[in-house]
Amino acid sequence: MLSVLYVVVPCYNEEEVLRETDKRLNEKLQSMVDNNLISADSRILYVNDGSKDKTWELINEFYEKSSFSSGINLSKNQGHQNALLAGMFEANEHADIIITMDADLQDDVDVLDEFVNKYNDGCDVVYGVRKSRKKDTFFKRSSAVLFYKLMRNLGVDMVYNHADYRLMSKRAVEALKEFEEVNLFLRGIVPLVGFKSGTVEYERGKRVAGETKYPLKKMIQFAFEGITSFSIRPIRIITISGIIIFIVSFILIIYSIIGHLLGHTVTGWTTLVVALYFLGGFMIFSIGIVGEYIGKIYLEVKHRPRYIIEDKKIK
Ligand code: UDP
Ligand code: MG
Repeated sequence: MLSVLYVVVPCYNEEEVLRETDKRLNEKLQSMVDNNLISADSRILYVNDGSKDKTWELINEFYEKSSFSSGINLSKNQGHQNALLAGMFEANEHADIIITMDADLQDDVDVLDEFVNKYNDGCDVVYGVRKSRKKDTFFKRSSAVLFYKLMRNLGVDMVYNHADYRLMSKRAVEALKEFEEVNLFLRGIVPLVGFKSGTVEYERGKRVAGETKYPLKKMIQFAFEGITSFSIRPIRIITISGIIIFIVSFILIIYSIIGHLLGHTVTGWTTLVVALYFLGGFMIFSIGIVGEYIGKIYLEVKHRPRYIIEDKKIK
């Protein structure tokens, strides 16, 4: 039995590029069906993420014309990550394998069969990893490197140079459903799902048409989301700096008392400085402690699964 593949494509105001995307994806899927790599029941699933242009009309047109093209329409713009999730969960009702990719053809359509080959070799998750970032602007490139470094230092496990071009098997998507958090950062969560994984390298091209839907503001928001959904280390930084200031205040207390006894200081300076440092340190430290508890609550309310079973052999 050949596997059913669903290619999930989130689209937000992509009317300029979508026709080309649909053409290339249809050609590719057809060739994969012809080569007996995937079942003829495979589909392209566009997720219209509340576009304000003709994106949904175009998807309807593709649906009428091609047997592969299909789509779902979200009631409003929910953001890239949620659109991806909506598409993956919908696709999982019908598919054995799900591949997510951007609508702008930056993700190389030609390597789709390499993803499926890796799946056939036993991988449940296959990450598309870009070979180089030559085509990206200097800004995108350096900000991305900085972001990966920062995430790693904050203790978040992420695949380097992997965006959301990714294959997941049916059971991997089922496991993903167990992560019920609303603030979603897929790149960080998918590695937590586990299972055997592999990578496919590809050359990431330029956006074929249209503009990026991730302007600077959204990029920063996205990075912030990534950090705050995975790490409570920023809170710990507050606690630690509170402790340091607290210790400094003790040294200062001793220093200024000695100064006072030796009569080197202006009247009132000692009390003022000591109170300032002591209270400042104590307050930052206290905020940190409160933060530690909030951090714990935060991790609890996510209701992340504590384990995922891969296989069972029970007689
Ligand atoms: N996208 C989406 N909803 C949004 C923003 C973006 O579905 O609110 C889609 C967009 O249509 C594209 C993908 O997410 O298919 C990635 O966006 P884009 O290519 O603009 O990001 P970039 O590659 O510039 O980081
Ligand atoms: Mg893009």
